[in-house]
Amino acid sequence: MNSDFKEYIGCIHAHTIFSDGSGTYSEIIKAAQEAGLDYLLASDHRTLRGREEGFTGWHDNLFVSVGYEINDADDQHHYLAFGLDKILPSSYSHKEYIQAVKEKGALGIAAHPFEQRDIDSAIAGFPPIPWGNLDYPEVEVIEIWNMMSHWLELTTVRNKYWNVVHPRSFSTFPSRQLLKWWDKANLERKVTGIGSVDVHATKITIFGFFTKAIFDYKIMFKSIRTHLLCNDELSKSDDNSTTESTIFKLIHDGRTFISNYRWGDARGFRFWAEDGDRILQMGESGEMKHPVLKATLPEKGHCRIIRNGEVFQKGKATKLNLQVTPGIYRLEVLKGKHGWIYSNHIKILESK
Ligand SMILES: [Zn+2]
Ligand SMILES: [Zn+2]
Repeated sequence: MNSDFKEYIGCIHAHTIFSDGSGTYSEIIKAAQEAGLDYLLASDHRTLRGREEGFTGWHDNLFVSVGYEINDADDQHHYLAFGLDKILPSSYSHKEYIQAVKEKGALGIAAHPFEQRDIDSAIAGFPPIPWGNLDYPEVEVIEIWNMMSHWLELTTVRNKYWNVVHPRSFSTFPSRQLLKWWDKANLERKVTGIGSVDVHATKITIFGFFTKAIFDYKIMFKSIRTHLLCNDELSKSDDNSTTESTIFKLIHDGRTFISNYRWGDARGFRFWAEDGDRILQMGESGEMKHPVLKATLPEKGHCRIIRNGEVFQKGKATKLNLQVTPGIYRLEVLKGKHGWIYSNHIKILESK
């Protein structure tokens, strides 16, 4: 039953020359196609120029949606908005824009929520851009793993050359603090997690003569991906707004999992709860009398089942089949010492 889904694999959060990225739309589309993505959600700072210039839509087998990244007057509370045709007034506070995105039925994603830097050793010119408080009911989707933000958190004046040359190897896990917040939030209300690349391909000069992009688009598109599980195939004959609505709803509803392609192709991963004929998928909640948690993995990994924010079971497996009691569950899979797959939550309620 669970293999019936159409799985769409994509990257979220990419910058182009329309803001502070180094690539054109044609270049990022080519890089995404070469990396084998099915969809790409691009988001420049404070502009929808990519949308106005007609880049939303199918490019062979890649669907591109153009949104934008909003910030407040203090350049904080970065928020991705997808599905808007016009940018919101730049005078809006973060409370106003998260509210407006919700009211307009667009998809909002809190970007790099708890970004931190060690101010003494961080590389110059990249201050942290945190959220502080994330407890707004309108914030329904957050970045659990932002490749670029994590890179900046871990990169110091001492290791920057190593990190530039080994772009994908350093980011081994999403932030523990963020996962903790995410699990706790889900005890109260549903908050979906996605993975993002936040790619800029910023060109820097190393050793005074060697210019290198941190990181190249194609390399980043082979790192943190968000997999969508769709009941039906996306049809190229649908208009773009229909395809966008389908993608945004899957993301919003949490019918997704995050993977780091650096540690293996996670296509085919499934995680669900079953009670007789009744099934709950990732992102869903419902009552069950005799719930069984099930998962299939594309290859053996070290599984950690998280129940209500605590590690509940762990061990190496390619399949899971575990009788459980009601609770809020998610599954993490590690490959060696590296975080590989992160599911969204399934909420199993007591059957009355
Ligand atoms: Zn940002
Ligand atoms: Zn960004």
